[in-house]
Amino acid sequence: MPKVLDGAAIAAGIKQEVAEDVRALAARGIIPGLAAVLVGHVPASEIYVRSKVQACADLGLASDLITPPDSVTTEEMLSLIARLNARDDVDGILIQLPLPAQVDAKTLLDAVDPSKDVDGFHPVNAGRLLAGRPALVPCTPAGVIEILKRSDIPISGRHAVVVGRSDIVGKPVALLLLHQNATVTICHSKTRDLPAITRQADILVAAIGRPGFVTPDMVSAGATLVDVGINRITAREEFDRFFKGNARREAAFEKRGSVVVGDIDPRAFEISGAYTPVPGGVGLLTIAMLMSNTVRAAKMRRGL
Ligand code: NDP
Repeated sequence: MPKVLDGAAIAAGIKQEVAEDVRALAARGIIPGLAAVLVGHVPASEIYVRSKVQACADLGLASDLITPPDSVTTEEMLSLIARLNARDDVDGILIQLPLPAQVDAKTLLDAVDPSKDVDGFHPVNAGRLLAGRPALVPCTPAGVIEILKRSDIPISGRHAVVVGRSDIVGKPVALLLLHQNATVTICHSKTRDLPAITRQADILVAAIGRPGFVTPDMVSAGATLVDVGINRITAREEFDRFFKGNARREAAFEKRGSVVVGDIDPRAFEISGAYTPVPGGVGLLTIAMLMSNTVRAAKMRRGL
C-alpha cells in the first residue's frame, strides 16, 4: 500500500512550531506582522487572503489587510509598497496575485524590500536561493521539501524529476531538491519523451497546471509522487476519467458540480510508494510556510 503524505498533519505540526516561536518572540516584545495586499474582488484571491489573515490570528501574528480598488495604478501600488517597506510593525509583505492588467506585477514584486518578501518572489531572494545562501524561499516549494523531510522520504542521492519550470514552483523546487543533494532533472513543455524521464524518478514533482497530466504509465512502481497541481474540473467526462466508481468523489461532484484534481492522475498513486493527495497534500503547506517565512523575516530583520 502506498503511504499517503498527509499535508494536513504536516501543516498542523509546522503551525504549532510557528506558534511556539511567536510566543517566544512575544516574550521579548516582538509581534511578527504580515501586510496582505488584496486588489479588487477576485473571489479565489479573497478566499486565499482571508485564510492567510485567519492563520495569522490563529498563530498570534499581527496582520493588516489592505484592499486597494480594481482601478489602482502601478504608481499608487508602488507608493503603498514603499510605505509598507518603511513600517517597523510589518515584517512580511504579501501581494496577492493575480493583479489587474493595468498594474505591472513584476515592477511591484521587485519593489518589495527583500527582507520582507515572504513570498520569496524577489530576484534577490531567488538569487540567494540559487547560491544556497539564507533566503526567504517561495512557500509552496518550501512546503514540498517539508513534506518529504517530515515524512522521512530520503532525498539525498535520489533522482528527483520536476515537471514544470515556473519561477514560483518548478525552479525553486528543483533548487531546493538540489540543495538536499538530489540528482535533479527539470522537465517542461519542450522536453522530448517526457515519460521516459519521469519513469526514472525516485521522486516525481508535478507542477504543470493540467489535470491528471502524469498518467500511471509515466511513473515507476514505488516512486514518491508529489502533486503540486490544483485544477478544478467540471466536465462529467473528465470526472469519469479520474474518479469513476469513487463514491466519495462522486458525492462531492454531484453536490458542487466540480472537484479538484492535481497534475497527477490519481490512478498513478496506486502504484507509487508514497504520494501527496489532492486536495489534502501540498496545498495545505503553503499557508503554513507563509507563516513560517513571516516569523523568519521578523527574526532575520532583527538579527535574531
Ligand atoms: P505555470 O503555468 O506557471 O507553469 C507550468 C509549467 O508546466 C511550465 O513550466 C510549463 O512548461 C510546464 N508544462 C506545461 N505543459 C506541459 C507539458 N505538456 N509537458 C511538460 N511540461 C509542461 O504553473 P505554476 O508553476 O504556477 O503552477 C503549476 C500547478 O501548481 C498549477 O496546477 C497550480 O494551480 C498549482 N499551484 C499550486 C500551489 C499550491 O499552493 N499548492 C501554488 C502554486 C501553484 P513551459 O515552461 O515550457 O511552458
